[in-house]
Amino acid sequence: MRSVSIFGATGSVGKNTVSIIQGNAAAFDVHAVTGATNIKDLAEIAIALNADIAVTSEKERFAELETRLKGTGIAAAAGRDALLSAAADPVDWAISAVVGYAGLALSLEIAKNGNTLALANKESLVCGGALLQETCKQSGATLLPVDSEHSAIFQALNGEKLEQVERIILTASGGPFLHYTREEMAGVTPKQAANHPNWSMGLRISIDSASMFNKAMEVIETKELFNIPSDKIEVVIHPQSIVHSMIGFNDGSIMAHMGTTDMRFAIGYALYWPERMDTGVERLDFTKLLELDFKQADAGRFPAIAIAHDVMRQGGLAGAVFNAAKEQCLDLFLDQRIGFLDMADLVHKTVGALDSFGNCDADSLDKISKADKWSREFVLKLSKKSNKYV
Ligand code: NDP
Ligand code: MG
Repeated sequence: MRSVSIFGATGSVGKNTVSIIQGNAAAFDVHAVTGATNIKDLAEIAIALNADIAVTSEKERFAELETRLKGTGIAAAAGRDALLSAAADPVDWAISAVVGYAGLALSLEIAKNGNTLALANKESLVCGGALLQETCKQSGATLLPVDSEHSAIFQALNGEKLEQVERIILTASGGPFLHYTREEMAGVTPKQAANHPNWSMGLRISIDSASMFNKAMEVIETKELFNIPSDKIEVVIHPQSIVHSMIGFNDGSIMAHMGTTDMRFAIGYALYWPERMDTGVERLDFTKLLELDFKQADAGRFPAIAIAHDVMRQGGLAGAVFNAAKEQCLDLFLDQRIGFLDMADLVHKTVGALDSFGNCDADSLDKISKADKWSREFVLKLSKKSNKYV
């Protein structure tokens, strides 16, 4: 029986993880499950999995969680410290599936245990890739990717030598605005942007997919996870999302990972690695018409990828500044205080201003947090300064 904890259990990745574990309940002993605002679901998940403890990151929701868990024997806790403390509890396997920058501190805490960290929270690698890798090295923790593209690459690398990899090709669906003009994109609403054509995901990552900020994050994530030079990472638009990503080797061979658009393939692979187990994903049916289209991403309409390359050139704290600016811009867009295309404009300007803050190695959570804070404030100042953004 393996002990497991699920951070972000009430989210999209979290609920998929819960369903896989429920499908093979006898194999797992669930320790902690966590959430933030959705206390009803958190309590239900804790009860369904018979967890030891349920934690919400929001202190003021403690009473509701405690009430819902009364008489179950499951402990309730709340607040950021309680969350970090649950992450420090040793388990065989823990998934970091919280959304946003808050995930970095949790991932680091899990990694310190030296067991297996299944990483969905890509922000951890974008903001603190070197720090997270070093923490895993020190403790002996195994870091396994859960992002679909990175799971695909990880699987295609089985038995291969990294030095024989010529390029990594990340596939991107192109999102809901693939065929929109720049003018049309300028006027889209958060609701339109959240409507992903292929994948069912949380709100924030869905909008990041529409702007291709998600793919930009994944380019950086690839560099940090596989220690691959940035000029070997390519992005190609593949509207069907059947090919989850590809590796090109030095003999011209391409290894592609294919499957349906169901995150359980990636979560299940990280959960059972190095074994494979059926998690119930629908099979690809080659007797039905299967079309695989590939085309170049239009840098004019999707400037996020170019910004990611600038971030990788700058290194150090640039990833943290990039992520924070992107998160702040997304909040402003959700509040309808800036337009869809303004997000890339503001992120570009903020990353470009990093020297005024002072770049250095991102080797401590403290340095990364200061850069994160500076970046969010910089975006807010910029957005207030220009009439264009109000
Ligand atoms: P969701 O928004 O669906 O879920 C986020 C989870 O984090 C919820 O459990 C939420 O709690 C919790 N949460 C939110 N804010 C905080 C906080 N400040 N502190 C602690 N917990 C918090 O996100 P997704 O599942 O879509 O994504 C999770 C991560 O995985 C992201 O980093 C995303 O980029 C990555 N990812 C997601 C994929 C997907 O298919 N969804 C695919 C690949 C990567 P509550 O709901 O209770 O408020
Ligand atoms: Mg992905």
